[in-house]
Amino acid sequence: MPTYKGDPRWIVTRYAGKCAKCGQKIGKGERAFYRPRNRTMTCATCGEEEAAEFSAAAWDEDNNTCL
Ligand SMILES: [Zn+2]
Repeated sequence: MPTYKGDPRWIVTRYAGKCAKCGQKIGKGERAFYRPRNRTMTCATCGEEEAAEFSAAAWDEDNNTCL
């Protein structure tokens, strides 16, 4: 499956930030889920939910193109 440039992905932060969803602080070097399209990142907890949603959506898209 090709990966698109704007796809959200897991990153290790290079600087401290804040979760866009729950507002929790994300420290430097922590795992975060990054969305290039919105330029937002979410903490590992919220990121797991978003990642699950995203893979479900991607699966739907793939499935539709096969029909
Ligand atoms: Zn969060």
